Amino acid sequence: MDFEDTKEESAFREQARTWLQANAPTEAEMSGMDTMARAKFWQKRKAEGGWACIRWPKAFGGRDASAIEQVILSQEEAKVAVPETGVFSIGQGMAAPTLMTWADAEAQANFIPRLASGEDIWCQLFSEPAGGSDLAALRTKAEKDGDDWIINGQKIWTSGAHYSDFGILVVRTDPTVPKHKGLSYFYLDMKSPGVEIKPIRQISGESNFNEVYFTDVRIPDSQRLGDVGQGWQVSLTTLMNERASIGAGGGGTKFSSVKALAKTVMIDGKPAIEDSHVRAKLASWYVQEAGLKYTSYRTLSALSRGAVPGPENSIGKLVGAVKSQDMASFAMDLLEQEGVVRDREKDAAFAALFQDTYMAIPGLRIAGGTDEIMANIIAERVLGLPQEPRMDKGIPFTEVPTGS
Ligand SMILES: Cc1cc2nc3c(=O)[nH]c(=O)nc-3n(C[C@H](O)[C@H](O)[C@H](O)COP(=O)(O)OP(=O)(O)OC[C@H]3O[C@@H](n4cnc5c(N)ncnc54)[C@H](O)[C@@H]3O)c2cc1C
Repeated sequence: MDFEDTKEESAFREQARTWLQANAPTEAEMSGMDTMARAKFWQKRKAEGGWACIRWPKAFGGRDASAIEQVILSQEEAKVAVPETGVFSIGQGMAAPTLMTWADAEAQANFIPRLASGEDIWCQLFSEPAGGSDLAALRTKAEKDGDDWIINGQKIWTSGAHYSDFGILVVRTDPTVPKHKGLSYFYLDMKSPGVEIKPIRQISGESNFNEVYFTDVRIPDSQRLGDVGQGWQVSLTTLMNERASIGAGGGGTKFSSVKALAKTVMIDGKPAIEDSHVRAKLASWYVQEAGLKYTSYRTLSALSRGAVPGPENSIGKLVGAVKSQDMASFAMDLLEQEGVVRDREKDAAFAALFQDTYMAIPGLRIAGGTDEIMANIIAERVLGLPQEPRMDKGIPFTEVPTGS
């Protein structure tokens, strides 16, 4: 493990910092803009300055940067007050690498620069009521009609479908072969006739994801990525990039916030931080956070040497998300009655950080691979334990028992 920047990394950090300080948008420049307009404004400026999607090849608007340079840029960007650009993460982090690998030159030229500059937003139409962790069990079907495919079925949990311009879609084109072999992969315009988007209301009161229904939606065959029946391989390109872009998974509440809170609230007339039970909890989270930090440094060292981080990345998501949820829950208990107040602008302690984390983290423990799937990955691919039984292996999809 090497904690220091090399000479080249340090020079790159300085270059990134200088550009960010000179170009971070001011409040005056963005006055009157909503969150989406701010995100698009900042993304466009980054693209024009050559700082968007820097890992991409130069031909696609990137700068052929290394993985460690991307990490350095993200670290420096986190230090300046710039708009949140998460709305682009599916398009840039998952759709673009898939298009780069599987689309023809014309489609690449049409879509990839617009993804880098934030002009287009894409969503991921993979999960279905019967196909989540086991994605290859999906049932939305596509049937060939002349030069088009006709899509019928339902997707669910589609983040950002309601503001997306395009979507990446996996469907079943042949139900008579084993489940992984009968899939095909398309992209589509989200305004296509027959696409119906219904928001799902979350515990937080927000609606970030949706159900998406397809009724006789026509997609031209030219919008297929990979061969007919090759959808699983194309999906793996998307999913490998999804795991890589999800990162440590410990967003929200940090140890330092809970410690700061424990210094301000009182238990039996003394600051909570003097209570032995509180101290034991804090010590345990401190140890976990340190473990996660050094595990992420191990990944950074691997990236710096040009190696690809392995399945051990799953540890960050599994441990980080559970820890964050535990800390938020404990902080809300410490706040007693105040713990239920979530008015960010006015009354809530720490601008409702703990309440927001408490409601967002259950989703993070599911999205991009649930806790149990992460544990399976660690068991099978890190620890080398035997694979879990796969009862439907090699069986035609139509013959897989459904329980109904
Ligand atoms: C915030 C959020 C955003 C999302 N955004 C998108 C999106 O944009 N696009 C998209 O396509 N999907 C999206 N998803 C869906 C997400 O990918 C799925 O929810 C996830 O893969 C789990 O699938 P599922 O919900 O069908 O649960 P299931 O797979 O049905 O799992 C149910 C339970 O069974 C457990 N389980 C399943 N299989 C195993 C196993 N083999 N071993 C042990 N336990 C198992 C799971 O851990 C879970 O506890 C999002 C989800 C969330 C929460």
